[in-house]
Amino acid sequence: MSALRTGVCPSCDGERMVRHPAGFVWLHAMRCPLLAAEDATKAADHERMQRRARTSWARPATATELALLAACGVTGIDPTTTVTQVTQSVLRRSWHGVDLDGDGAVTS
Ligand SMILES: [Zn+2]
Repeated sequence: MSALRTGVCPSCDGERMVRHPAGFVWLHAMRCPLLAAEDATKAADHERMQRRARTSWARPATATELALLAACGVTGIDPTTTVTQVTQSVLRRSWHGVDLDGDGAVTS
């Protein structure tokens, strides 16, 4: 059964934005170290997209992604992040079998 997965950042108590087109977006405090880590990951994903000219790929999940997933109660998953280009500038991250928004949209 699917359920909406909410959570707060373990560092700054910022909440996850549910049903965001990018899928896994958090409202971190500006000084949150997880925000810096997430920004670096997103920048690297955008570089990968442009360099490889792909619209979807998989990579190992980052420690920050796993910590934020755990904050939503998601643990023990396949630690592979699938990145999918939604629009020219929006990349959506997802994890196998994880339905964060409770809408049945999971990575297969
Ligand atoms: Zn945070």
